Order: sequence, then C-alpha cells, then structure tokens
Amino acid sequence: MDATGRSGLLMVVSGPSGVGKGTVCRELIARHPEVRLSVSATTRSKRAGEEEGVSYFFVTKEKFESMIEQNELIEYAKLFNNNYYGTPRSFVEREIAAGHDIVLEIDYHGALNVKKTYPEAVLIFVAPPELSALKERLLARHSESAASMEERLGIALEEISKVKLYDYVVVNDSVEKAVACFEAILSAEKHRVCRNLNLLDTFKEV
Ligand code: 5GP
Repeated sequence: MDATGRSGLLMVVSGPSGVGKGTVCRELIARHPEVRLSVSATTRSKRAGEEEGVSYFFVTKEKFESMIEQNELIEYAKLFNNNYYGTPRSFVEREIAAGHDIVLEIDYHGALNVKKTYPEAVLIFVAPPELSALKERLLARHSESAASMEERLGIALEEISKVKLYDYVVVNDSVEKAVACFEAILSAEKHRVCRNLNLLDTFKEV
C-alpha cells in the first residue's frame, strides 16, 4: 500500500501484435516513473535490440515449464511459433503490495486469466485505427518470416474480436493521443471510491 493506504493499480494492456502498445506503454512509463512495467518470461528468441531482463527474461522451454510447475507465473500462454509467454508472480505481488502501479503487456488469454485472479485489474485494449495500418507495421518490422506474419495477422483478428471483454479501448492513431488516454484512465481509476476506502475510513474520526 502507498501513503494513502491505496494498493497499486494493476493495468493489463493487450492488443494485436504490431499495434504499437509497447511504444505507448514505454512512453507512459517515461512520463510516470511511478508506474512500473512487468517483464515477462518467454521462450521465443531475442530480436535485434532486445535486452535480457528489460524486454523479456529469455528462458528455455525446460526452464519455463519448471516455472509453471513451481507456480512462479500468475498467467502464461502459448502464442506465436508455439512459444511460451508468462508473467512472473513475484514482481506483480511485491509491487502491488508496495502501492506501485504496474502495467502488464500481455495477450487476451493472459488478460482474462489475470482478471480472474485480480478482479480489480483494469483491462485496456489498444486497437489499430484500421487493419491496413497494422499490416504495414508488421511488415516494417522485417523480423518475421511470411508464415509467421500470416500467423500474427490471423491472431490479430482473433484478438480484436475479444475487445468487448475489456474495460477500456484506446485507438492508437497517434502515440501522443493514446498516452493521454492512458493517463486519463489511470487518473480516473485511482479516484474510484472502492480504491480509496482507507481514506474514507479516516473521515469517520472527524
Ligand atoms: P512479441 O513476440 O511480439 O514480443 O509478443 C507477442 C505477444 O505476446 C504480444 O502481443 C504480447 O501481448 C504477448 N505477451 C508478452 N508477454 C506476455 C505474457 O507474459 N503473457 C501473455 N499471456 N502474453 C504475453
């Protein structure tokens, strides 16, 4: 809990691959250093420019499966190319208890599983302004084979069909506007009465 007795806010951000949610989350965190980004574990290979422990914890399939067995992940999913992606439990539990706001950037399977464990989590879906923009961004990455890109596009359509299960949708037509929407959501959620019950308790003494 923080100084006001408020637990940290758990924001779960999903959206199709290539929609730019990573950029939006990084910009939000750059402007709000009190918000922390959870680093996932994955079995996929490292891309150029990615850093161990910053982009992901890159682990072997054996290591990931032992993390599942040891209950070290709050959720996980098998996504592209049969690779595992999962959220380490220790970071989330520690930061929430310390009253820090955290962002999980995960797919919709993971988002819905987090909501089961943490019903107070806020689920935000980042949508592309149009599908052609998404195709262009995926092509611009040049890090994927044609088959893998087809798979990502197929999964992108599946992801978009789940938007109704989220609390908020943010269209990423400009990073600036999308970050402003995230800031508005963060602020509104922090002011919900149900998140400020400790503060209200102090009024009883007046
Ligand atoms: P990429 O391979 O492009 O880094 O990520 C692919 C997808 O994996 C992203 O859309 C992201 O939402 C999802 N992802 C990343 N980390 C996790 C995680 O810990 N759990 C789940 N369920 N999905 C994740």
